[in-house]
Amino acid sequence: MKKLVVLGSGESGVGAAILGKKEGYDVFVSDKGTIKEKYKNVLKNIEIDWEEATHTEAKILDADLVVKSPGIPDKVALIQQLKAKGIPVISEIEFASWYTDATLVAITGSNGKTTTTMLTNHILSNEMLNVGMAGNIGDSFAQMVAEQTKDFYVLEISSFQLDGIQKFAPHIAIITNITPDHLDRYDYKFENYIASKFRIAMNQTENDYLIYDADDEVIVEWLEKHPVKSKLIPFSVQQELAYGAYLKDNKIIINLDKQHIEMSTDTLALEGKHNTKNAMAASTVAQLLKIRKATIRESLENFQGASHRLENVLKIQNVQYINDSKATNVNATFYALDSMKTPTVWIVGGQDKGNDYLSLMPLVREKVKAIVCLGLDNAKIIETFGSVVDFIVETTSMHDAVKISSEVADKGDAVLLSPACASFDLFQNYEDRGNQFKQEVHKL
Ligand code: ADP
Repeated sequence: MKKLVVLGSGESGVGAAILGKKEGYDVFVSDKGTIKEKYKNVLKNIEIDWEEATHTEAKILDADLVVKSPGIPDKVALIQQLKAKGIPVISEIEFASWYTDATLVAITGSNGKTTTTMLTNHILSNEMLNVGMAGNIGDSFAQMVAEQTKDFYVLEISSFQLDGIQKFAPHIAIITNITPDHLDRYDYKFENYIASKFRIAMNQTENDYLIYDADDEVIVEWLEKHPVKSKLIPFSVQQELAYGAYLKDNKIIINLDKQHIEMSTDTLALEGKHNTKNAMAASTVAQLLKIRKATIRESLENFQGASHRLENVLKIQNVQYINDSKATNVNATFYALDSMKTPTVWIVGGQDKGNDYLSLMPLVREKVKAIVCLGLDNAKIIETFGSVVDFIVETTSMHDAVKISSEVADKGDAVLLSPACASFDLFQNYEDRGNQFKQEVHKL
């Protein structure tokens, strides 16, 4: 029996363990932290050996194959030891892909992964295709492969998952955009992070497709220097394209070999240029899979966006409160501000990942009437925008941030939580931050 060691016992680790057991491996799960109760119960139920708060090296170094959680960096000594011994260390999506013949649609990028994944899944489901959505979203890919048989999987994939692939080959891949993020895991070299994202196309052939944002210079320049085998399908909101998806007269137009579709952007459920791009990417997948135009159009019209992404919370005294807590980097906040149509009170701040706020300056000048900082260290925000915005104040709780925002907002304004920062200085995670925002707004 081959020995599979799973390092890290979160959603993807437990999924890999379930699939490993089903495929006849002798499975051992090891987590250096604590394992959540619900995952322990799963492992007990299917009689998988596990340990927590330690890594028993002898047992781990005896593996034939190791599936590593995306949270564990390659740098750690144990991973280096495994590699030195020639033991393959792969990610859970790689492992899962060995055991399915389904058509894979894989979506990566710095921002827009979840939205584009959900939207693509929504269109495919509305066409009644037998589709599963997995990856960084909901159940793990491995668990789905173990427990269900699908014809299609739509997968949200992080760069960390891509770092651990060997043969993983999606038929259709999307790179939504690439802006600096997670650089601590990439030796602070942006090119390493870009290379990691492009691994999504590494095993594609001439019969596969790579859909990408042609307005993103990082992607375009990388492709010029590092050609891929798959067929390229660009999308753009800035230029007309002979092949691909573009915007003209408030219409999304998608031109592929023999297919052509036009859709008005006025009826799109999700607002903002970034969501137009997400819609283009998802609809291009649908076109490639020959989904009916009516299904594509209807799906884009009735799609319910994910929570914490430009989520309209409430309108109180004609002030619209918007929760964009998932905006944990400057680029996501750029699109949030870009989509604002009214004067905006902007709640911003948190744990800074090396932010450069300058790209926001024109939008802040144009739209932001007040800044409410919500973070432990707001020096950079105050330094950048202090002379541009009349009202700027510091807070350290969501209660205070929302209360002050409601006081400075006038009828017709919006209050936007779009922090451009991680949440961990004051909150458990971005969901906690967004939920607290919603609670405080409901209390107003
Ligand atoms: P991810 O899963 O990549 O983090 P999400 O769909 O969860 O992406 O969106 C994260 C944040 O980025 C949200 O604030 C959202 O409004 C914003 N966003 C969504 N799509 C895009 C895009 N194509 N470009 C830039 N920002 C985007």
